[in-house]
Amino acid sequence: MIKLNRVVRPSYLTEDMIKNLTLTFKATGESVWNDERLKAPLRLSSHGKCAYCECSIIEESKYMEVEHFKDKHSYPDDVIQWDNLLPSCKRCNGIKGTHDVLDTPIVNPYLDHPRDHIYYKDYRLKGKTEKGIDTIVAIGLNDYERIAIKRFEIGHAILESISQCEDKILEYETSKKTRTLNKISRFMERILNECQPSAIYAATTATIALNNETFFEVVERMKSIKAWSAECEELFSVAKSIILPTALKA
Ligand SMILES: [Zn+2]
Repeated sequence: MIKLNRVVRPSYLTEDMIKNLTLTFKATGESVWNDERLKAPLRLSSHGKCAYCECSIIEESKYMEVEHFKDKHSYPDDVIQWDNLLPSCKRCNGIKGTHDVLDTPIVNPYLDHPRDHIYYKDYRLKGKTEKGIDTIVAIGLNDYERIAIKRFEIGHAILESISQCEDKILEYETSKKTRTLNKISRFMERILNECQPSAIYAATTATIALNNETFFEVVERMKSIKAWSAECEELFSVAKSIILPTALKA
């Protein structure tokens, strides 16, 4: 989970429209939020990912659902309130179900910074606070089959890429070919692109890469051979902003 910024309320959602749609929902139970004018800006604000688990909600099998932070059954007056809507995958929306966020608060990635409540250990998310613990349970964020295994795969892939980058540096140190130097820069930029807010499971990827000893050795060696580009630096600083702590006290 990463911190998200809400985009402005779509202009069609005027106060009158909100009032009417709320009445329609209460009278008919119709999914009044099922409107592309509302879904598109939500998707944009989450970089096309589920606001909770960071899977892609553009892929066909994980099409986007509009999640009601305060659930629609207990809080029908909030059913079309912009601040109550989150883009979510089917899985997270389904598991959260009618969890009452006023009774048992959970992290709202548009309001809270996940790193204040959640930390990362051994490919699992752990709660730093009561809210963090409740979030992990309410959304099933350690569901092995659907999420934890993805984290493991993605973590393994990024560590493998870091090792490959190290090999390329070794190759350059022997050959001194400028072409290899450029390849190293591009390769590292690709690694760091996987750690950007727009990438799927970015909190995991960024946290694993930026806590890896070899990664920092690679960075230092890249700097010494002048392969650490301005783009690398820029991508690195964004990646740093979304990492989760790796210990309770961090
Ligand atoms: Zn999800």
